Amino acid sequence: MSYVETYYRRALGPSAVQRPVLEGALKVDVCVVGGGLAGLTTALELARKGRKVCVLEANRVAWGASGRNGGFVSPGWAARYKNIRRMAGEAHAKELHRLSIEGMNDVLKNVHAFAMEGAEPTHGIMGAVRYEATDDLKAHRDWLEKEFGYEVEFKSRDEVRQMLVSPRYYQALYDPNAFHFHPLNYARALAKEIEHLGGAVYEGSPVVATALDGATRIAKTAYGSVEADHLVIASGGYTGNLVPQLKRSYLPIATYVMLTKPNRELIASAIRTDAAIGDDRRAGDYYRLVDGGERILWGGKITTRTTEPRLLGRLLHETMVSTYPQLKDLDVEIVWSGLMSYARHMMPQIGRLQPGVWYCTAFGGHGLNTTAIGGRVVAEAIMGESDRYKLFAPFGLAWNGSIAGRAAVQLTYWAYQASDFLRERKSA
Ligand SMILES: Cc1cc2nc3c(=O)[nH]c(=O)nc-3n(C[C@H](O)[C@H](O)[C@H](O)COP(=O)(O)OP(=O)(O)OC[C@H]3O[C@@H](n4cnc5c(N)ncnc54)[C@H](O)[C@@H]3O)c2cc1C
Repeated sequence: MSYVETYYRRALGPSAVQRPVLEGALKVDVCVVGGGLAGLTTALELARKGRKVCVLEANRVAWGASGRNGGFVSPGWAARYKNIRRMAGEAHAKELHRLSIEGMNDVLKNVHAFAMEGAEPTHGIMGAVRYEATDDLKAHRDWLEKEFGYEVEFKSRDEVRQMLVSPRYYQALYDPNAFHFHPLNYARALAKEIEHLGGAVYEGSPVVATALDGATRIAKTAYGSVEADHLVIASGGYTGNLVPQLKRSYLPIATYVMLTKPNRELIASAIRTDAAIGDDRRAGDYYRLVDGGERILWGGKITTRTTEPRLLGRLLHETMVSTYPQLKDLDVEIVWSGLMSYARHMMPQIGRLQPGVWYCTAFGGHGLNTTAIGGRVVAEAIMGESDRYKLFAPFGLAWNGSIAGRAAVQLTYWAYQASDFLRERKSA
């Protein structure tokens, strides 16, 4: 089993070894199903605390969303703050925002602790808007500083346009604490560290059945089985039918990324910053320069359709050119898609299904910081150190509505697109 073709696969660092398939019977304290960032972080936190852990990954480490994403690491959740506040109340929403900052800082600490080759962070993420928002952005900047002691910088329209040569943008908030990096090399370095601490990571080892009701939990793969005191399900948007309650409670949502061909000069006519850029539209664009400004890695769009559209490259190219017409001759080199797992409330699903059985999933499109804190709170709960995982109780395993749920998500997305369009037109 190999990685799908992405920029990250091409730029795999030195830790690209193939790990073994599980064969025979194994007994551990904690067995984690899924070797994405949620599973790896949970396992790493437990291994650090002296627990015997194993990770069972169906394909390769970070083969799913964790190894295919935009590489943006910033505070926040997939759900917007105002929606979290509506669902959980003001104090709770603030506590969750603090956790999301802690998650970002944890990732950075890991990057530095392991001196990871090929996952060096570049600091700076710019949230640009496509409508006049000077007062709102300044108010948001002040609120972040007052409530969380978190400093970001306001950029005026002129400042933004010196960095992003596009008529589309107005103002921006620049976050110097947030960063972007190579998520696949990061994830593989976490796996190496788990092994270094005595844990085991198996690739090509999908869990096909579980027995959860006995004195211990059993996970079975094609050639082996694991007996554990605790089982953690962290299989993200690729979760199959293994645990029916989880299957019913999330929707796999696809999103897309492209890598352009190299053309430093042409790219510099449009993008003149090494900060990563995102806009605030629902499923808006996110992009950044890679290979020292030689290429652009550009992501966007979401859909409930889990197969890749035939003309995906053209679709993303059109999106890029609609923001930067000067890039019309910049060709696409590769495109790929990945599945995110979304609950109806758009918050992660983190909790205990029954004694000894945990889930840590549904991080949506904002998973790089949130999987870090999700894994940490589940590890703390298993160790009996904290019950911070209960902060996620208000969001629960809500039923996804199956086919009707899919249609509703797609319709909501189109409605959002229409309202984003109207807001931009008002400023034009
Ligand atoms: C294209 C794209 C761009 C994104 N950009 C960003 C970004 O810039 N910033 C950000 O914060 N977030 C981003 N996200 C979201 C982020 O990548 C995810 O939220 C996060 O990686 C989810 O991690 P995970 O471990 O829950 O799931 P995954 O990384 O999907 O891992 C789940 C793993 O479980 C395995 N698995 C499934 N079933 C089984 C089984 N039965 N047995 C064993 N293993 C199994 C799968 O093979 C997979 O490797 C993006 C997502 C995508 C798809």
